[in-house]
Amino acid sequence: KSVTDVSSVTSITLIFSPFLSSIDSTIFLTISFIVLILFYYFSIVFHIAFLFCKIIAGEIPSTKVYEDEYVYAFNDINPQAPVHVLIVPKTHIDSAKDFNEENSEIASHIFLAASKIAKQLNLNDGFRIVTNSGEFGCQTVHHIHFHLLSGRQLSAEMA
Ligand code: AMP
Repeated sequence: KSVTDVSSVTSITLIFSPFLSSIDSTIFLTISFIVLILFYYFSIVFHIAFLFCKIIAGEIPSTKVYEDEYVYAFNDINPQAPVHVLIVPKTHIDSAKDFNEENSEIASHIFLAASKIAKQLNLNDGFRIVTNSGEFGCQTVHHIHFHLLSGRQLSAEMA
């Protein structure tokens, strides 16, 4: 998608270039370059922000572990433990900081799903549920999600 965006900006730039011939070419090239970089940056930000929406919609493939009306859960692409499932609400909220009185029931749907997944995967020796929020929390995908980790003895260092 980003490559398409870049090529469309390049095409637009080429189409308009004859009309802008009176403008100093250095200024024109500088502006084109800045527009290109901004377009590229925002297409990446948009792609990452809505990555999990696209996974839920089936537009990006995933290995589904569990699904109900409110929640979609799938295997993490870069597992940190033998079992590493991401539990994602179908409603898009950015992170844990965005819970409020109106949407707090999302949290109960997540934990109910986690309990069902734990039974489904026979995680009888226990598991950990983590949600990263913001920069200090090392959140990379800005659609709230809960990591369900298990399958080995986890480190006691973090929580
Ligand atoms: P966080 O760093 O807490 O925002 O977690 C984001 C998680 O999403 C990371 O553990 C990534 O490995 C995972 N991830 C990113 N893209 C995909 C994908 N296409 N399919 C499955 N997991 C993904």
